[in-house]
Amino acid sequence: MQIKAAVFEQREQPFALRDLELADPGPGELLVEILACGICHTDIGMQAFHPLPSVLGHEGCGRVLSCGPNVQKLKPGDLVVLTFGSCGDCGNCTRDLPSHCDHMMTLNFSGKNPQGALTLATQDGEGVHGSFFCQSSFATHALVTERNAIRIDDPAAPPDLLAPLGCGVQTGAGAVINTLNVEPGSSFVCFGSGAVGLSGIMAAKLRGCETIIAVDINPDRLTLAEELGATHCLKGQDNPTEQILEITGSGADYALETAGTVDTFHASISCTRMGGHTGIVTIPNWMEGFHFKGADLALGRTVTGVLEGSSRPEQFIPQLYDWYREGQLPLDRLVTRYPFEDINQALHDLENGTSVKPVLLMQ
Ligand SMILES: [Zn+2]
Ligand SMILES: [Zn+2]
Repeated sequence: MQIKAAVFEQREQPFALRDLELADPGPGELLVEILACGICHTDIGMQAFHPLPSVLGHEGCGRVLSCGPNVQKLKPGDLVVLTFGSCGDCGNCTRDLPSHCDHMMTLNFSGKNPQGALTLATQDGEGVHGSFFCQSSFATHALVTERNAIRIDDPAAPPDLLAPLGCGVQTGAGAVINTLNVEPGSSFVCFGSGAVGLSGIMAAKLRGCETIIAVDINPDRLTLAEELGATHCLKGQDNPTEQILEITGSGADYALETAGTVDTFHASISCTRMGGHTGIVTIPNWMEGFHFKGADLALGRTVTGVLEGSSRPEQFIPQLYDWYREGQLPLDRLVTRYPFEDINQALHDLENGTSVKPVLLMQ
């Protein structure tokens, strides 16, 4: 079918809205009409690596239009949140840890569907890479797998708020609840107050952390962090480690690093107490590496790389929505809405920090 999509055609160039052809759903696949799609830093970060031309977008929310053969649980009309793809068969998937699927890279970043085929083409029949996170939701329609489409059983649920549950909110809240598994009364530090960090702060409050420390260089973000649950806000420029040690006495029980700099990477480990636990969402200097002092770990500390908040989306995404409905996860505070046509403005606003979580409206 013919769809409209924002195509990433050349590196460091704006996306172009184009008419493309999308393949019919194959076995286990669904055709979804996209209603809204959040923009996440991975949509920007992957631009350096992803094969061209391609359609990105991995926080889609929409309605199932049709199902291919062997679709078991979903049907046309279902409202679904789209999340990362996983195979369902590897060791980690069968251990109920789909966020750590052995085939994570191929399924989510190869530009091809699980069978290894391109599903998008230009009007002239030239192949376009899609299946980004098994969705490519910067488009009016997407082909997804049944495993990465999570049904929300509330017809009145707002698609623009559901969309970010698929990656950013799931990552931040999941890091705190699933990966770090913080307990009531504990102390928690979050480096970076973007969508992932602020979701972590909301989750820490929900879990009953007593001390919640936000660290950022942007004063507006710190104000928002305070409104969402931070008990202390520290400017990243002012040696936060010393202040964290002062506030907590012997160091924080838990820390989450979402800012992605070498300084915050080190600080997120050295600010924890003996035996503390740090979750790392964003790795700085991804390709080049950086100097790391092993002494930071000598105090019995644990450092864990966080993948999609170690979540089982089928349970966790509906749970996140329930918390939103109960007023415990006010994710509406993060969202700025844009018409789909304004995707380049929305990407720009995310990059320069004007917008915490831009969400595109396709309908
Ligand atoms: Zn797997
Ligand atoms: Zn993401």
